[in-house]
Amino acid sequence: MRYLDCLSAVRSECAEAAGDRSVYLTFDDGPNPLCTSDVLDVLAEQRVPATFFVIGAYAADQPKLVQRMIAEGHEVANHTMNHPDLSRCKPAEVQFEILAASSAIRTACPQALVRHIRAPYGMWTEQVLASSARAGLAALHWSVDPRDWSRPGVDAIVEMVLASLRSGAIVLLHDGCPPDELGRGTHAGLRDQTLKALSRLIPAIRGRGFAIRSLPQSQRTDTPL
Ligand SMILES: [Zn+2]
Repeated sequence: MRYLDCLSAVRSECAEAAGDRSVYLTFDDGPNPLCTSDVLDVLAEQRVPATFFVIGAYAADQPKLVQRMIAEGHEVANHTMNHPDLSRCKPAEVQFEILAASSAIRTACPQALVRHIRAPYGMWTEQVLASSARAGLAALHWSVDPRDWSRPGVDAIVEMVLASLRSGAIVLLHDGCPPDELGRGTHAGLRDQTLKALSRLIPAIRGRGFAIRSLPQSQRTDTPL
């Protein structure tokens, strides 16, 4: 199965019913000691739930942030152990990356119920989908990507999200940096634009009549291949 065929098998929106005006916020690449607590503060102030696709190695380093996510009603999901491009990994590595991340999350916070996975860079393959399903994880992509990681400016992030909003939209934001980005010298604190954009986005999304919700509980785990 080619990459695009795999992508089409992955859920990228969550519209449950006609007239449903739900929007879902997701944050990838944390938990980050410099960024994540600020994101959690904004979500708490505005009483908004989100899903954090965490990197397992970071979850192991920052268990308190994972525990705080769960305690404050957010979902913690799997973004692999080390954030590799899974399409370049051998089957055993894919399996390890997925299982080790779920295990790291549960070690950090035994109450965490890991239900979803997002492949790094959105690189879904047949192998990734099969291993995820075996691990009991539903694959989840996104439908709105303001490329906040590229620091396009707060206005650009806000405008891009608002221009793409529709019922069931899954918004991709970042509360951290993958290990390879850190290795290139990019500072982990550079999610300031994401944070400012988030503060403006939440009231703006609500102002347009959408509710920001937790992902539905009844996600399928048997992703068709
Ligand atoms: Zn990522």
